[in-house]
Amino acid sequence: MDRGTGEGMDTAFFLAWFEDAGRLVRLQRDRLTALDAAIGDADHGANLDRGFTEVRQAFAEWPPATPVQALVSAGTTLIRRVGGASGPLYGSAFRQMGKSMDSPVTLAVFAAAFESGVRAVERLGKAAQGDKTMLDALVPASRELTRAVQEEIAAREAFERAARAAEEGARATIPLRARRGRASYLGERSVGHEDPGAASAAIIMAALAAVAS
Ligand code: ADP
Ligand code: MG
Repeated sequence: MDRGTGEGMDTAFFLAWFEDAGRLVRLQRDRLTALDAAIGDADHGANLDRGFTEVRQAFAEWPPATPVQALVSAGTTLIRRVGGASGPLYGSAFRQMGKSMDSPVTLAVFAAAFESGVRAVERLGKAAQGDKTMLDALVPASRELTRAVQEEIAAREAFERAARAAEEGARATIPLRARRGRASYLGERSVGHEDPGAASAAIIMAALAAVAS
């Protein structure tokens, strides 16, 4: 079955998304740690690797029966289990996405819920695109999803575009000066480095595209 399109995205699709995000985070754990070593405290790779491992365990203990349950369970787990700023931020994004999701999960439903999750990060982090955070990847990704809905593009292609936008957004953080989070303490010295949270957001979107393809 083409899980990313047609009838919509079922629970298995969301479980596969988290599974693949965890797999990719583990593969890129050292890169995320190195990025955070440059402008933070070198724990972003470890934080997310542990976070997604805990999500997998939560799913095993309490198998989600719906997409909403999967998102809320993953979000709650990340909020509770990840010490760094990124845990509560990603956790709130997934929880809010779950809470605002209708059924069945069409691309339009997904895009609207995703945007609501990104808004939760903006509120909690008191941050906006351009502040050199995960939002520099998440906001362009959300915009691509919304545009894909308007243009009636298939989910698979929409997720690929969103992943590309997130990747470009992450790279675009390199020349920026951090205005939020730990990296902001560095002032001008944060310039010239990719933001670790933007890099991990691009990984999470790459997992979404991979699962839909
Ligand atoms: P910590 O900074 O507590 O060590 P992590 O290293 O896990 O946590 O995550 C750092 C990432 O979190 C940053 O690269 C940035 O993308 C994101 N981040 C930090 N503070 C904020 C904020 N206020 N708003 C949005 N994102 C933030
Ligand atoms: Mg850190």
